[in-house]
Amino acid sequence: MEMAMESSSTSMDRDVLESHYLDWLRDAHAMEQQAETMLTTMASRIENYPDLKRRIEQHIDETREQARLIAECIERRGGDTSAIKDMAGKAMASMQGMAGMFASDEIVKGGMLSYAFEHFEIASYRNLIEAARMVGDRETLAICERILPEEQAMADYLEHNMAGVARRFLDLAQQPGAKAKV
Ligand code: MG
Ligand code: FE
Repeated sequence: MEMAMESSSTSMDRDVLESHYLDWLRDAHAMEQQAETMLTTMASRIENYPDLKRRIEQHIDETREQARLIAECIERRGGDTSAIKDMAGKAMASMQGMAGMFASDEIVKGGMLSYAFEHFEIASYRNLIEAARMVGDRETLAICERILPEEQAMADYLEHNMAGVARRFLDLAQQPGAKAKV
């Protein structure tokens, strides 16, 4: 039979919880740095899809602010943000950007990558929200609840506009002048 006492964690359980929590915050920070690099590369290359470019530029501003807010959350918990993961994430994002340059349908592949990435972010913030509740970190909880809808809005935009981008790509690809790629 389970005892009611079981829900009150020991100090060792708390350490485990806190350590996973801080890891997840650092992961989120690295993710936002990666997002910024990826989105910046993508936006700078787009020439023939102005609406998508504008929406990405808007999300770059949001992403920078998210990274700043999450860094503050980490610092409030006594962690540091100069992690190797951030650098690895940035390097990976640059490579993704460069890999995309070789694709003749760069805009389409970039859109697919962004769509997947936004959903990865949504999942990350949902998990962080649960963790923040469990550790009782109300400031971070409020921040994650503010960031989550920005990720959902970006995912939603892609959800509703990727078909149009694919159509435009295929239209442009049939015309002379090679304007379809980005
Ligand atoms: Mg983000
Ligand atoms: Fe995002």
